[in-house]
Amino acid sequence: MDRVVIGVDLGGTNTRTALVARSGDILEKQKEETLAAEGHEKVIAKLIRNIDRQRANADQYGRRVAAVGVGAPGVIHEQTGVVVKSPNFPDWNDLPLKQILERELKLPVFIENDANAAALGEQWRGAAKDIRSMIFLTLGTGVGGGIILDGRIWHGADGMAGEVGHMTIIPDGRTCGCGNRGCLEMYASSRGIVMTFKAMCAGKHLDTEGRKEITSAQIYQAARNGDTVAHLVMKDMGRHLGIGIANLINIFNPEMVVIGGGVKAAWDLFIDATREEVRKRAFAYTAERTKIVPSMLGDEAGMVGAAAVAFQKIAKLS
Ligand SMILES: [Zn+2]
Repeated sequence: MDRVVIGVDLGGTNTRTALVARSGDILEKQKEETLAAEGHEKVIAKLIRNIDRQRANADQYGRRVAAVGVGAPGVIHEQTGVVVKSPNFPDWNDLPLKQILERELKLPVFIENDANAAALGEQWRGAAKDIRSMIFLTLGTGVGGGIILDGRIWHGADGMAGEVGHMTIIPDGRTCGCGNRGCLEMYASSRGIVMTFKAMCAGKHLDTEGRKEITSAQIYQAARNGDTVAHLVMKDMGRHLGIGIANLINIFNPEMVVIGGGVKAAWDLFIDATREEVRKRAFAYTAERTKIVPSMLGDEAGMVGAAAVAFQKIAKLS
């Protein structure tokens, strides 16, 4: 019988679950609100219900579910499947998610960091299809990422590699939630963009009163409408992103850098500044040959990638 897997993207807001074939085709999918504030017991109970529903779907297709892959936010100990801590789930401390799910589901379960999973998803079925070495950056409220080398997620010693959002871009820059200063996340995320806008307005003595609660989307719109400050803000963001990408290119020599997340909506406003900075800072040959492209799978990258993780792991086991 043809084996299928279930891929889950467990997000702070939504949980996406899919039944995925070996080809990478999504056979069935569903999306449900996570309601993280209800606590881990309820979130896990719902997770199990969603997985069971996809298992019933597999029966309809005459397929057998071989494993489950889960992409979860936060610090994940990849080998043990323990969620060490997760900013989206305040009550998840050293939660043995793999163990709990395997006990309930009687299936092999593999837990992966969500950005790593999304990176593998883009490499399997998205923008970096057929590319063996790539780096994925997701620019959302924060900046996450994943490093794929020779078709596999680069985990590092503890499964915590790929935190590209926390590389230092400015030595004494803005204080980041991680404890460091001047992290890429503080400049290239939607939050960072709003901070830069406010800082630039303050510096230019512009009226910020009416703009106190400005969102990143409003800044993109203002830039497209010809607002000079908003334009500068996006150039500044693109430049900082370019510094980060140039560092990554020099270290990893990837074939491709894929950029996803909500900030991708402002692609045309930052990408020229990003490419210019990469040209200035990375080795000429590698800078020239590395493609920098937008992600293709969007919200589906996480669950498709989680399914890819499950397929890779069971292939290794059998
Ligand atoms: Zn940081």
